[in-house]
Amino acid sequence: MTGARRRFALLAVALLLGAGAPASAQTFPTNNRVIRNMWEQGMGAGSQVERLAQVLADSIGPRLIASPGYYDAVDWATKMYEGWRIPVRKEQYGTWTSWRRGHTRLDLIAPRFRSLQGTMLAWSPGTQGPVEGDVVVLPDLPDAAAYTGWLAGIRGKFVMIGPPEATCRPIDNLIAFARPETLQRLGAQHDSLVMAWSSRYQRFGGGFGARLDASGAAGVFTSLWSQGWGVNKIHDSVTLFGVNITRVPSLDLSCEDYGLLYRLADRQQGPRLRLDADSEPLGEQPVYNVAAELRGTQLPNEYVVLSAHFDSWDSASGATDNGTGTIMMMEAMRILKATYPNPRRTIIVGHWGGEEQGEHGSGSFAADHPEVIEGLQVGLNQDNGTWRIDAIRMRGFTEAQENVARWLRSIPREIADTVKFESPVDEGGSDHESFNCYGVPFLRLQSSNYPDYRQYTWHTNVDTYDKVIIDDLKNNATLVAMLAYQASEDRQKLSRVRSPLDVRGRPFPACSPPQRKSTG
Ligand SMILES: [Zn+2]
Repeated sequence: MTGARRRFALLAVALLLGAGAPASAQTFPTNNRVIRNMWEQGMGAGSQVERLAQVLADSIGPRLIASPGYYDAVDWATKMYEGWRIPVRKEQYGTWTSWRRGHTRLDLIAPRFRSLQGTMLAWSPGTQGPVEGDVVVLPDLPDAAAYTGWLAGIRGKFVMIGPPEATCRPIDNLIAFARPETLQRLGAQHDSLVMAWSSRYQRFGGGFGARLDASGAAGVFTSLWSQGWGVNKIHDSVTLFGVNITRVPSLDLSCEDYGLLYRLADRQQGPRLRLDADSEPLGEQPVYNVAAELRGTQLPNEYVVLSAHFDSWDSASGATDNGTGTIMMMEAMRILKATYPNPRRTIIVGHWGGEEQGEHGSGSFAADHPEVIEGLQVGLNQDNGTWRIDAIRMRGFTEAQENVARWLRSIPREIADTVKFESPVDEGGSDHESFNCYGVPFLRLQSSNYPDYRQYTWHTNVDTYDKVIIDDLKNNATLVAMLAYQASEDRQKLSRVRSPLDVRGRPFPACSPPQRKSTG
């Protein structure tokens, strides 16, 4: 069977098995009219998630903090809430270095021609037009004096400052097809390269990063392979011994192209490049959170907070980090306004800036709004990509779990039945921590998508609209609206009793003062 035919056959089987239940097949555990209306709004033809996700990911694109894309997104979200007649505000919480990304064009011009996959790291300077130069690998030298001598000769050259991968094949591919001894040999090759390079780094001596930055090199290359086919994580400037490279254009190269250049340079085969990288520094600019609110009619000083960071890294579209969380919360607010416009408690949504640099937007909001901390009923944060929410991490607030479990029991089975209270994987930090550290129940909504998310879309060059699973986005927005409604109506205030340690037995992070400027 050809590939295309086989795919259609699989699709037909899936349809026969009843995958993708239609909106009419829901199972309501209660007759609650608001829940029924929420289902219609969120899962029916009126759903807005596809349109919202497409505009955010494709038309606005990446939302690096303080970049033009971030400001476009802030304006867009503000207009959407205004259109839905939900009161909305931009809250400035600080300033950050603004930077515009332009094109990166990188060609191998000797010993043969090939256009390379190179992307400027965020906030990298550009080249002010095309530059050509040779490629060198940071050499293996005996001591700091030898490195000083080497630095004097790298003006105008492109410098590779780390080891290549032994292979750009993902590990699951090797496990499936390689002989055990091949797998072992590749593993040993990887380990010995890493060891050799770490001893190389130790021989630089202090101040090497600053001297490399001042060396007049034409560019510095790294490669942060994401361990999937053709995927890299692309962040901001290279740090060598605590010094950011800020004066030399800094690029991430694909795993394949980094390996190619490394082999050519290491074996003296004369690699030469042409780089044309355009970017523009735009100075220290105001940065914002966007907050929209449905005011409580009976308990206006008690709060249900929906939370998702709005900023992203910028080598793709930030579609699953955190476009999906953003759209989920916007759509939940739209559903709430349409079906439950006068909530008992106040419902706020926060679209935070600066999460990727350390949860700065949410941390500032928590510090600036003691009344929200004081009156918080519950917070719901989402920040791990697409796929359906199937875990609620209670973040140590085990007594409050009874209430959340009760809310889930009123939600249609199709949405709620697979939601558990813990997930096997620890997914690192996000904005819930900015609130949890004050001792309030701010929960994490989690998809169990490991290692798919970490390997393929998280911070990568392929975090694009096509990865968004619209069915699950509808599911998740509707779930959040139903949880927020019940959190607002609950006759009980949620318990703040918290276990001292997380599920892995470690203490939860303490609050730290939010960083409000790029210079710290
Ligand atoms: Zn994120």
